[in-house]
Amino acid sequence: MNHYLERIRNNPDELLNFFKKMPKGADIHHHALGALRPADILKKAAELGLWIDTAEGWIYTKEQASTIPAAQFQLHSEAEQFCQDNWTVCGFDGKGDAGKYFFDIFFKISPVFNGHEPFWLNKILEEAATDSLLYIETLIECPTVSKKIYEIAENYEGSLDENSSDADFRTFLEYLSQKGLDKLKKEAVTLCDSWIDSVSNQATQLKFQLYTVRNLPPKAVLGQLILSYATASESDNIVGVNLVAPEYDELSLRYYSMHMRVCRWLSKLFPTVKLALHAGELCDKLVEDEHLKFHIFEAISVAGAKRIGHGVDLMSESNRNYIFDTMSEKPVAIEILPESNQFILGVFGDEHPFESYHRSKVPIVVASDDPGVLNTNLAAQFQKLAIDFPYLCYDDFKEFAFNSIRHSFLSNELKQALVLKLENQFVEFEQFEN
Ligand SMILES: [Zn+2]
Repeated sequence: MNHYLERIRNNPDELLNFFKKMPKGADIHHHALGALRPADILKKAAELGLWIDTAEGWIYTKEQASTIPAAQFQLHSEAEQFCQDNWTVCGFDGKGDAGKYFFDIFFKISPVFNGHEPFWLNKILEEAATDSLLYIETLIECPTVSKKIYEIAENYEGSLDENSSDADFRTFLEYLSQKGLDKLKKEAVTLCDSWIDSVSNQATQLKFQLYTVRNLPPKAVLGQLILSYATASESDNIVGVNLVAPEYDELSLRYYSMHMRVCRWLSKLFPTVKLALHAGELCDKLVEDEHLKFHIFEAISVAGAKRIGHGVDLMSESNRNYIFDTMSEKPVAIEILPESNQFILGVFGDEHPFESYHRSKVPIVVASDDPGVLNTNLAAQFQKLAIDFPYLCYDDFKEFAFNSIRHSFLSNELKQALVLKLENQFVEFEQFEN
């Protein structure tokens, strides 16, 4: 297989074809809302009687100025191109703010997703099966429950800021408990369990990480984080928690260290809940240098994250040796998301710290991030790595596939079962020299 890979190394189409067929294990940094395909979005919007803004593709549940019914829009000869341009990064003209273009898409399409999760999760798993993935660990939230916790949190009269201590967090938790945290937790568990029940017959396993939006005021972030940990501790279908939204936004930056301390405090309260964090998804074009020095370090040393997503600002971090030693020894896996980094941060090839992680023996997991919005898939991430880092051989890619199961948040029993399946898939795959 190593020889075959070398023969096709300079042929992108054949490389992609090869990685499509190669068993890849799991996609464990995958946002459900970022995985929707434009054609499916339009079809579902029409079915639900939603409205589409004809300028930028914002979807609404009610008629607005400049909207037409999705069912009518569907008949337009240029509808397909319009959806591709506005609901994926394909329409970005290279000028302006790539991050804003990217993150806006999630808001544009959310009315077609929220409340219809089982439909989309089935779609995601159908696609995963054609990609022969064994497992998807997708990031999701329960919007109806989030809305309630935000309202409760907002009415808290105490203050929470970057100087708040564990005692302040506890007082806030007691307030939430008095206001019905337990009921909201049960509501979220019931929702998540019902979503998994609705897809349980698929060939690919599915579990959730519950996410908290990080670029909101402290009370909202803390309320949501507390609810996420509490919910995850009660359901086998929720295997972890995570923080999402632009790490470079003003509020995300200002409260970054506080968020890390909240995660540490919650991890003690809910020791069974695993934490993965988007950390170091930054570059010097987006933030001041001072912000590039400690995010990965604190995600590991303070919050105790078991996996780091992106980790792109590594070479600007002050404590690189600690990061390398801890990530390789503990271990803490790095989730590598090549196309996402190239689009949002403009970082790829030699600029990307991939090789430093790899040479320092940090376990590498390759993931897609947002296959729908980025108009990509997991195979294309492997292809990009094979092109950008030609020293990588077949055995490296095979290792990445196994890492995606080993470093997932599944129980040990489920991991062992999937590792066995993956081994069998490779035996079959390697019988043919493609
Ligand atoms: Zn992500």
